[in-house]
Amino acid sequence: MTKIQKKKSVESKYRKWKGYGAKAIYANMAFFRDHGLLSRLVGMTGHAQDHHHQDGHRDPPSFPIQEGRAIWGFLLAFLAYWLSHRFVYVENDPGALARASARGERVEWSSFDKFYKQAPTLFLQPSNHEELIGILREAAASNQTVKVVGSGHSWTPIGLTDGVMLNLDKFNKVLSIDASAKTVTVQAGIRIRDLSAALAAHDPPLALRNTGVLDRQSLAGALATGTHGTGIRYKIMSADVVALELVTAGGNVLRGSRRDPDPAMRDMFEAAVLHLGALGVLTEVSMEVVEAFSVIKRNRLLPLNTVLSTLPALAAGVDHLLVWFIPYTGRAQLMESLRIPPTKVPPTHDWGDSRKHCQNFGSTSGDEASAAQSGSLMLSLTYNKVVASLRSFSASLLLASRPWLGVLQLRLLSAAGSFSSLFPVTYVPFWNRQVVAPALHLFAWGESFYPHGHRGIVLDDHPDCYREAEWFLPLESFNAAMTAFLTFLDSRRGKIGANFVVQIRVTHADDLWLSPFRREQGPQNNSHDNTGQDKTMSDSISWFVSVATLVKGFDSDPYLRAAEREVWIPNGGRPHWGKLHYLAYHELSALYGEPFEKYLRVRRRLDPQDMFMNSHLRELFFERAVR
Ligand SMILES: Cc1cc2nc3c(=O)[nH]c(=O)nc-3n(C[C@H](O)[C@H](O)[C@H](O)COP(=O)(O)OP(=O)(O)OC[C@H]3O[C@@H](n4cnc5c(N)ncnc54)[C@H](O)[C@@H]3O)c2cc1C
Repeated sequence: MTKIQKKKSVESKYRKWKGYGAKAIYANMAFFRDHGLLSRLVGMTGHAQDHHHQDGHRDPPSFPIQEGRAIWGFLLAFLAYWLSHRFVYVENDPGALARASARGERVEWSSFDKFYKQAPTLFLQPSNHEELIGILREAAASNQTVKVVGSGHSWTPIGLTDGVMLNLDKFNKVLSIDASAKTVTVQAGIRIRDLSAALAAHDPPLALRNTGVLDRQSLAGALATGTHGTGIRYKIMSADVVALELVTAGGNVLRGSRRDPDPAMRDMFEAAVLHLGALGVLTEVSMEVVEAFSVIKRNRLLPLNTVLSTLPALAAGVDHLLVWFIPYTGRAQLMESLRIPPTKVPPTHDWGDSRKHCQNFGSTSGDEASAAQSGSLMLSLTYNKVVASLRSFSASLLLASRPWLGVLQLRLLSAAGSFSSLFPVTYVPFWNRQVVAPALHLFAWGESFYPHGHRGIVLDDHPDCYREAEWFLPLESFNAAMTAFLTFLDSRRGKIGANFVVQIRVTHADDLWLSPFRREQGPQNNSHDNTGQDKTMSDSISWFVSVATLVKGFDSDPYLRAAEREVWIPNGGRPHWGKLHYLAYHELSALYGEPFEKYLRVRRRLDPQDMFMNSHLRELFFERAVR
């Protein structure tokens, strides 16, 4: 699909939603009027004028002012709902920014959720090495900082600059695929979804070994922050990189690989597989891929305590395990996936427990239809769709009865995006226990089949409007950390906005310098087999558990900051480089030791003028954060 077609399809999607919205408002108003609900509602405010006749006949209520208010209430509520989706959900269009910047207009880049915004002096989209090198040399001559942005899917300001901002969407070609060596070489700006599609279309079909839950990111961006998926036999994406190309601040094109005979290039490679965007511009990547696979998946709901106490066995029994629990509900949803040889026909699968046999996948009409049955439906339905509608509905009721309160509520809500943020923080535990917990039973069960396995690993309906921190814990610290975390949640009950999902995933250890999954005694080479599994480590406990705390709406700082200080740091956690944390140089240096210093030495050598620095990186590399 071309960019213009994509843009049109996004626009028509929103036109359709606007149409639905108008119909919904009209239908609601008619329903309210016909059932006298509006009059009762307004009656509560003391303005109602219900007229009863002696024969029992009742005049239809007539409340022009209040009814007008209600209409405005609905309209405003819907507008807020629509705007929040329109402006939060639509992806950046770097091409449009680059064209506007070329016309001399001031442009503003923003992260995927519009949380971080910055106006660079120039926004450029080079399409080849000559253009890129020219830009870097000019920036160096005029002492400008340069940052590359991918899809802007980081929860930190890691990609911001008020200097020159680059985007590498035009560096998006698949350069070569070697099916027998199972490697692919691509330009590093390619989006993960496009790379997966190209690999799937290859003959024989191939696939990335693993990805995170999203595939909108650029490959270079995903590698920059150590993007990982889940599965005890699967490492982070950076671990699959075998060679790469980096263009430095001086415009030099460097190529390096793990086994490079030149130690300087070997070090450059080690630093650049997880580069934090601070070394130069990553332009090319060669990485290992695997044979294509299909995925069968099931979702189930279990008591949280059962899941936490049996996590190693649960994780070992499947290829990919994703656990979601919502604080104070006492329940956890498991999304378990198995990889099978590629097939278009949904197989019969016995999951080995008596409650359900995966014999009927419901729909076999392709990935999208199957995806609709996935566990992500639970969250997207409960939070993104049903809750969003309830939210606008309740806000419109408030608008109709107490306009000032309604407006206040709406403001909070349009920023929030979560029903529990309709109430003060105090009510979050009550709401989660009384409403969310029972609702989970409606959505948590199901099985699905993905002929194209990559679609089974990502979650299309992943909710976007939240803030997230993610901490990685060695397996041996997990129990203590989770006990501390649950105690923390209990002790802060009603005081922090722990209103959204806590996500647990598992990842194989590695030996990359800046990988949060680094183990000093980790494997010395990449020994994944063709199925994507690492045979050398699969029997050991060399894997990490990641715990991501998501928060919708409320000021996320107090919750995430306190959990960091009281739970994750004392239990030896390391933070995700692309998600919220409050650590600075001294803490990071203690967590990573010598590899961190080695990375900083390579960085200084490649970027002596600090062209690729910004204030976030400066804090990580030079300064202590203010707590
Ligand atoms: C909704 C959501 C879901 C997510 N799910 C997961 C998940 O499942 N697992 C996980 O581990 N992470 C996850 N993340 C985090 C995400 O994968 C990372 O933050 C990733 O870095 C984002 O890639 P991007 O293309 O958006 O890069 P950006 O956020 O735009 O940039 C990230 C960094 O990469 C640098 N960069 C980008 N391109 C280049 C280049 N060509 N050369 C040099 N530097 C470059 C930037 O300067 C910046 O430092 C998720 C994030 C969101 C918002």
